Amino acid sequence: MIPAAAHIELNMAALRHNVCRARDYAPESKIMAVIKANAYGHGLIRIAQNLSAEVDALAVARLDEAIRLREAGVQGRILILQGFSQVDEIEALLHYQLDVVVHSEAQVQLLESVAFPDSIAVFLKIDTGMNRLGIRPEQFSELLSRLQLCQCVRQPMVFMTHFANADDVQDAKTVQQLAVFNEVTQGLDAEKIVANSAAIIAWPETRVDWVRPGLMLYGVSPMIEGSAKQLGLLPVMSLYSRIIDIKQVKKGETVGYGATWKADKNTCLGVVSIGYGDGYPRYAKQGTPVLIGNKRAPLIGRVSMDMLTVDLSDCSGVQLGDQVLLWGDGLPVEEIAACSGTIPYTLLCGITQRVQVLVGDTKELYKNCTI
Ligand SMILES: *Cc1c(COP(=O)(O)O)cnc(C)c1O
Repeated sequence: MIPAAAHIELNMAALRHNVCRARDYAPESKIMAVIKANAYGHGLIRIAQNLSAEVDALAVARLDEAIRLREAGVQGRILILQGFSQVDEIEALLHYQLDVVVHSEAQVQLLESVAFPDSIAVFLKIDTGMNRLGIRPEQFSELLSRLQLCQCVRQPMVFMTHFANADDVQDAKTVQQLAVFNEVTQGLDAEKIVANSAAIIAWPETRVDWVRPGLMLYGVSPMIEGSAKQLGLLPVMSLYSRIIDIKQVKKGETVGYGATWKADKNTCLGVVSIGYGDGYPRYAKQGTPVLIGNKRAPLIGRVSMDMLTVDLSDCSGVQLGDQVLLWGDGLPVEEIAACSGTIPYTLLCGITQRVQVLVGDTKELYKNCTI
């Protein structure tokens, strides 16, 4: 097979390494690996199969993601973070043996309205200040009592919340949210789960019975400050393509759509076969680095659908066909996200169907990145 120009390499050894790092941070906690959104662009089934023996549970956003996992033969606990909104979804939870988040009174009513012989493991989510999903603290004791009477709700439930600002170690909101959560759930004999990746790393008191890492498992830093390398994480995904043309432009000439870049001297540029049609961000600004060999070359001009151009002035010896790293091993996706006015999550999730996937499983895959 001829390898596609634009491809990702996924390093499953790095994935396992990052699970170990999560365990180092939270040695007393059970790990629920978050693999929603196609496992942050790494492939839902593939990542589930590689993780299921390493962790205590998996989590996805929606029922259809969980059903796909079951149909692919993935066993073990799977939590649906967005819960359900109709009765036939409750039936599917029972049929596929899925765990579910209950985050609203409407869901409690649905659970009260059904009669099934089996029960479902429920994670009761409290909104402690994010104001997205979750029941309000003042509703907690009433809804808890009602759920305790539902015969299809397995007892005891697990209590849950989600942090809005855990990525910012300066921000007191995490402590405030945790205080609300602890007050509401105080004295109740139940397991708890609160921490996403950022909380696991930065807020030790959030490492309770369970933790819910997502981004860190893929080897990317969730923190506003602090690189993956400093945190001991290894990137799982590396995005590559290659140089398909090398040319000289003269002083005063422009490059690309909109003619947004103008040569201030005669310049050697390389054309790379990757663009926003592959998931490379169109809004990456001039100067965003790519890595060729171990040299950085800056992006010039606008990113097109299938191509982008880089300045090769400081990269002597580059040849047609040379491999180009867009992010991953040796060029953190966090840095590309910062250059593009976004967060690493969107870049990972945005890899498109066209991009070929190569899966590796050895430490040797790592050329540039060692801990
Ligand atoms: C996505 C998500 C997580 C994982 O977040 P990361 O920042 O990727 O670690 C945890 N909990 C909930 C409710 C989520 O939606």
